[in-house]
Amino acid sequence: KSGFITIIGRPNVGKSTFLNRVIGQKIAIMSDKPQTTRNKIQGVLTQSDSQFVFIDTPGIHKPKHRLGDFMVGLAENTLNEVDAILFMINADEGYGKGDQYILDLLQKVKNPVFLIINKIDLIHPDELFPIIDQYKDKCNFEEIIPISALQGNNVNHLLDILKQHL
Ligand code: GDP
Ligand code: MG
Repeated sequence: KSGFITIIGRPNVGKSTFLNRVIGQKIAIMSDKPQTTRNKIQGVLTQSDSQFVFIDTPGIHKPKHRLGDFMVGLAENTLNEVDAILFMINADEGYGKGDQYILDLLQKVKNPVFLIINKIDLIHPDELFPIIDQYKDKCNFEEIIPISALQGNNVNHLLDILKQHL
C-alpha cells in the first residue's frame, strides 16, 4: 500500500508535530530544497506493508493572505493529486475562519478527506462530541479521527485507517 498524503490545517494545529512523530527516525527523504514540482516532499514513511509520502501544499497555509487565483489554483491542484488529505484541527480551539477557507477549497476536491482532531490530551473526552458536531457536516469526511500528535495517542490507528484507504 502506498500513497501521497497531504496535511492541511490552520497554523499551530500540530501538523509538524504529527509529521515528526510519524516519520521519526524513519526519514527516507527530508528536503528543504525548493523542488521543481509544485509539491514539496516533507517526508516518507516506509513500513513493511506500506509507504506514505507526505507532501506540503503551497498556498493553503496562508488563509489570511489575500491569495491570487494562481496560488489558490496551485493548492487546489495539489489537493486533487494526492491520495488522501488530512485536515487537521485543534481540539482546544473552536471552528474558525481559517478552517472555512480550507473547507471551501475542499468542496472542489474529490479525494478522500480525513478530519484529524489533534491535541485531544488538552480536552475532556466529553468535549470531543461537540467538536465533531461542529465540523462533521462541513465536508464529506471519510473518517473523523481524534489524536494527540504530541503524546502519540491514536496515531498508529490513524495510519492503519489510511492504509485501508490506499
Ligand atoms: P503546525 O503549525 O500546524 O505545524 O503546528 P506545530 O506542529 O508547530 O505545533 C504547534 C504547537 O502545538 C507546538 O507547541 C506543539 O508542541 C503543540 N502541539 C502539537 N500537537 C499537540 C498535541 O497533540 N497536544 C498538545 N498539547 N500540544 C500539541
Ligand atoms: Mg508546521
